[in-house]
Amino acid sequence: MKNDIQQILLTEEQIQARIAQLGEELSAEYAGKNPIVIGVLKGVVVFYADMIRALNVPCEMDFMCVSSYRGTQSTGKTVVKLDVSADIKGRHVLILEDIFDTGNSLSFVCQHLQAKEPASLKICTLLDKPERRNPNVTLQADYVGFTIPNAFVVGYGLDYNEKYRNLPYVGILKPEVYEK
Ligand code: 5GP
Ligand code: MG
Repeated sequence: MKNDIQQILLTEEQIQARIAQLGEELSAEYAGKNPIVIGVLKGVVVFYADMIRALNVPCEMDFMCVSSYRGTQSTGKTVVKLDVSADIKGRHVLILEDIFDTGNSLSFVCQHLQAKEPASLKICTLLDKPERRNPNVTLQADYVGFTIPNAFVVGYGLDYNEKYRNLPYVGILKPEVYEK
C-alpha cells in the first residue's frame, strides 16, 4: 500500500497530538451535557475510535451512513443508507466526520439531523479542504483537525475504492494509481 503514497501529509504522531488538543476542547464544551456523538460512516471510523477516547466526559455513540450519487451535474443527490438509532430530540449532538470537502454530504447530514430537533448540533471534522467547497454551502465546521490542500488523500479511515483505510497516517495518493 505505501508504494502508492506520494507523500505523507499527516503522521500518526501529528494526528494523535491534534486529537489530544481537540479532546480537551470538546471535553470542556460537553461537560455535563452527555452528548450523542454521531459518526458518519465509513471514513470516520478510525478517527472516531481515537477521538471518543480523547473525550473525558460521558457520551453516547451513534452512526449514520449517507451516500451521494453524482451524475454529470456537479450537484449530487444524497440519501440516508443508515439512520441514527437514538432519539436525538432535545439532546446535544456532535457530528464527527473524516473530511469536509465540497460540503454537500455534511450539509445534508446536518439538515437531516436538525429536523430531529436536537438541543445543539456541532461538527468536528478531522480534515477540511476549503478550496473544494461548493459555493452554495455556507455551513462551517465548529472544530477542524487539519486544513489541507486540494489533493486526494487516503489513510486513517479514508479510502480509494475501499482500499487504504487501514493506513495509520494520511497520505496523498499517487495520481497514477487512480489514473490507471
Ligand atoms: P463532500 O464532498 O460531500 O464534502 O465529501 C463527501 C465524501 O467524499 C467525504 O466524506 C469522503 O468520504 C469523500 N472525500 C472527499 N475528499 C476526499 C479525499 O481527499 N479522499 C478520500 N479518500 N475521500 C474523500
Ligand atoms: Mg465521509
